Amino acid sequence: MPTGREIRAGFLDFFAARDHRVVRSAPIVPEGDPSLLFTNAGMVQFKQIFLGQAAPTHPRIADSQKCLRLSGKHNDLEQVGRDTYHHTLFEMLGNWSFGDYYKAESIEWAWDLLVKQWKLPQDKIWATVYTTDDEAEQLWKKITPLPPERIRRFEKENFWEMGETGPCGPCSEIHLDRGPAACDWKGGAGHVCTVNGDCARYIELWNLVFIQYNREPDQSLRELPSKHVDTGMGLERIVAVLQNVLSNYDTDLFRGIIDATEGLAKRRYGGGDEESDVSFRVIADHARAVSIMIADHVLPSNEGRGYVLRRVLRRAARHGKMLGLNGPFLTDLVPAVAQILGDAYPELRERQQFISEVIKSEESRFAETLDKGLGLLEAEIAKLPGTAGVLPGDVAFKLYDTFGFPLDLTEDIVRGRGHTVDAAGFSKAMEEQRARGREHKKFVAQSAGSGDRRSRFVGDRIYEWESTVTGVSTADGERPGGIKAGEEGELVTEETPFYGESGGQMGDVGVITTERGDRIEVLEALRHGPDLVVHRVRVLEGGIAPGDAVRLVVDEKRREQIRLNHSATHLMHGVLRERLGTHVRQAGSLVAPDRLRFDFNHTGPISMEDLGAMEDEINARIRANVECLSEEMSYDDAMKRGALAFFGDKYGDRVRVLQMGPFSVELCGGTHVARTGDIGLFKFRTEGGVAAGVRRIEAMTGGGALDWVQEREERLRQIGSTLKASEEEAVERLERLLAQSRELERRIEKMQRDQAKSQSGDLLAQARERDGVKVLATRVDGLDDKALRELADQLKDKLGSGVVALGASDGTKVSLIAAVTKDLTKRFHAGNIIKQIAPIVGGNGGGRPDFAQAGGKDASKLDDALAKVHELIA
Ligand SMILES: [Zn+2]
Ligand SMILES: [Zn+2]
Repeated sequence: MPTGREIRAGFLDFFAARDHRVVRSAPIVPEGDPSLLFTNAGMVQFKQIFLGQAAPTHPRIADSQKCLRLSGKHNDLEQVGRDTYHHTLFEMLGNWSFGDYYKAESIEWAWDLLVKQWKLPQDKIWATVYTTDDEAEQLWKKITPLPPERIRRFEKENFWEMGETGPCGPCSEIHLDRGPAACDWKGGAGHVCTVNGDCARYIELWNLVFIQYNREPDQSLRELPSKHVDTGMGLERIVAVLQNVLSNYDTDLFRGIIDATEGLAKRRYGGGDEESDVSFRVIADHARAVSIMIADHVLPSNEGRGYVLRRVLRRAARHGKMLGLNGPFLTDLVPAVAQILGDAYPELRERQQFISEVIKSEESRFAETLDKGLGLLEAEIAKLPGTAGVLPGDVAFKLYDTFGFPLDLTEDIVRGRGHTVDAAGFSKAMEEQRARGREHKKFVAQSAGSGDRRSRFVGDRIYEWESTVTGVSTADGERPGGIKAGEEGELVTEETPFYGESGGQMGDVGVITTERGDRIEVLEALRHGPDLVVHRVRVLEGGIAPGDAVRLVVDEKRREQIRLNHSATHLMHGVLRERLGTHVRQAGSLVAPDRLRFDFNHTGPISMEDLGAMEDEINARIRANVECLSEEMSYDDAMKRGALAFFGDKYGDRVRVLQMGPFSVELCGGTHVARTGDIGLFKFRTEGGVAAGVRRIEAMTGGGALDWVQEREERLRQIGSTLKASEEEAVERLERLLAQSRELERRIEKMQRDQAKSQSGDLLAQARERDGVKVLATRVDGLDDKALRELADQLKDKLGSGVVALGASDGTKVSLIAAVTKDLTKRFHAGNIIKQIAPIVGGNGGGRPDFAQAGGKDASKLDDALAKVHELIA
C-alpha cells in the first residue's frame, strides 16, 4: 500500500514528467496579500499571474500546497472532527497551465494518473461539467471510456470564481463512488446517494478549473486573451482512497498523531465511544494546523491570524480535557506531526523545538483557566431549559474575557448540549468592553508608574512573540504619546519572550517591530518584580506608543550562549561542592554570553590538581548528556526534593526547580539546556580571590570555549614555529635556549672583566703626578658599572697611593667613578670630587671619601669632566 509521502511524490513526479516545474508550497500566511488571512487554495500564490499582474516563471507548474480553511468564506471548523473528511489544514495537490495546455490535456492526464497509474476502478468514476460546457463533455467522451450517464452537468457547482470580479471559468470535477457502505446518512428518510449529494459515498477527488473569462465590474463575462488551467486535489482524500480506508483519519497522514494521543490519554480511538473519537480527530487535525501555523511564524495573539491560532489551540485543549488530558499535551504531538509532514514541509523539522515551546506556553496558560471556565459554563447550562436554550451573551463574554474561552469554543460546547449562544449579545458586551478599555488605557497611561503592571515571560525556548504595548516611559516619566526615532526609554508589553536580568543571568537583547514598519532596538531587558519585564529600548525607525501591536524578537544566538553558560554554572557548583566540600556556597554569579563568573565561599587558592580534576568531572557530566528539567512547584516541595537555593534571590510560594539528572537540583528561574550535552565543552579560565574567604572562577562553554582552546593552540603553534621545534619539543627547546643564554651572559661578563684587567696596565701609564699625588683620570667606554668599579679598584691597588677617576659612555648615558687610596682620604674626598664633576655631564652623585659614583647624560662633555679632576687635585 502506498504511503501518503509516496502518493504526494507520485503526483509531483507524474507532472514533472510532463514538463511541469515542481515548486515549493507557499507559506500558510500569504505574502503581500493582507486581504486573506491564510492560504486556502493552491492558486493563491499564482493569483497575480491570473490577474495579469505578474509573468509565470514557467508555463506549467505543479506543487503540493498547505492550505488552511479557518476563516472567511471557507470555514470548516465546526465540521472538523464530527465527520471523517473535513480538515482545518489540508494539502492541495495541483497542476497549472498559464496560457499553455487547456481542457484536453487536463482531462487526459487526470484520467491517466487516477486510472492508469493509481488503478482506481474506472466504473466507479463520475465526471461533472458546467451546464453549457459541451467542449468538456465531448472531451470526456472522446478521451475516456466513461459512459454518457456518468458525465453529469451542474450549474453553480461547476463554475469557479476567484471573487466578485476577476478571473473565472467553468470547471470539471472527478467524483468517486465509494459504495453504499460509505454513506454516512445510513438510509435517512428520503436520502438518495448521488454526485454532489450530501453524504460521504460520492466524494469529489479532483477539480479541474478552466479559466477563460474575466468577471467585469458590470457582472458581464469577458473572454481572456489566454486561457489557464488550475486544478486541485485534496491529498488526504486521495490517500484514503488509495490506502483503501473510509476515513482520512485512518490514513498514515493522521494515524501517527492519533497513536501518540492514545499513548498520552491511555484510551483507544475507535473503541466505541463516538464522543471521544470526535475528540481524537479534532486533536489530530488541530495538532497539524497549529504546528504548520507556528512553523510559518504565526504566534498566538488576540487578533488576526494569531487569534485564529489561539482559538484552534484552545479548542484542542478542551477536547484533550474530554479525553482526560489535563495540562499541556498538544506539545507532545509535535514530533509525530513533524515526522509525518516534515519531508514535504521541512520548516516543521527546522523549527520543531520552537513549535513545541510555543504550544506548551499557550497550553499551560489556558490550563489555568479552563477548569474554572468549564465550571462556570456548566452552572449556566444547568439554568437553561432541557433543550434549545440560549446562553446569554454576557455569560459567553465573561467566559471569553475572564477565562480565555473563544466564542466558537463556547458555542461548540453549548451546541453539543442542544443549545445555542446569543452571539449578538456577545458582540455587544465585547463592544462595551472596548469602549471601557479605551477609557482605561487613558487612565493607565496617565497614572505614572502604575503599580499593577504585569508582563508575562512566555517561556524559555521562545524567541519571538506578538503582544501589545501597555506602557512607555522615559527618564521624565510616563509617555502616553510614546517615543519617536532617536529617543530612548522603557517599554512594557502584556507578554514578552525577553528574559529580564535576574539570578545573575543577563537580560536579553533584540528588536521590536510593528506592521507599520517601526523598529525598536531592545538594549537590555530588566526584571522589575516577579511578573514584570521592562525593556530598555531605543527607537531606530518610526515610533512606539501604548496600545501598539508589536512583534518581539530576541537575539537567539546570544540567548543560546547564555543558556549554555548558565546551565554549566549549576554543573560546576555541584562539582565544586563535591571536590572542595559542602561549605562551598554561591556568593554571586554573572552569566554573560561570552563567559560565566562564579563567586563562592572558600579559603585559600584552589590547586591546579583540583582545577584539572573538576574540569574533567564537569566535562564528563556534559558528555553523560542527561536531561535537564525545569519545573514549577511549591517552595516546600522544592525543599523536599533537596533543592539548593540560590543566594540573594527572594522566593515566592511557587518556585522553579532545575534538575540536571543526578547532578544538580537547584532553585533557578533562568533559561537552561534540554540536555547537559548541549553545553558541549567546559573550560576554566581564571581562578583567584576577590575578598577574604571568597574565591572567583571564570569559565567558558560551548563554541566560546572551543574558540579559546583553538586560539591557544594557534599561539602554541606560533611558538613552535618561532623556535623551529614541534609543539611537543617546544618546552625542551625553550629550556635549552634559556640555559644557553645564561651561559652566554656569564661568558660576556668574564670577558669584560678580563678585558678590564688587561687594560689596567696600559691605563696606568696615563697616571700623572701633581704635587706628589698620582692622578689617573681617563675614559674607558664600553664597560658597565660593575666592570668600571672593579677596574677602579685594580688601578687603585696598582697605584699604591693616588686618585683614580674613570668615565664611560655607551653613547647615550654616562657613568663616572672616583676612588681615593686610604692614605689620601684626609686630603681628597672622592664624594666631593664626583659632586663637582658630575654636573659637567648633566648629572649628579656622591659617595664615601674613598669611593663615589655618578651618572650623567651628556657624553660630549665627558672629557671635560675628567680634565677637571686634574684641576681639582692641583
Ligand atoms: Zn448516501
Ligand atoms: Zn541558575
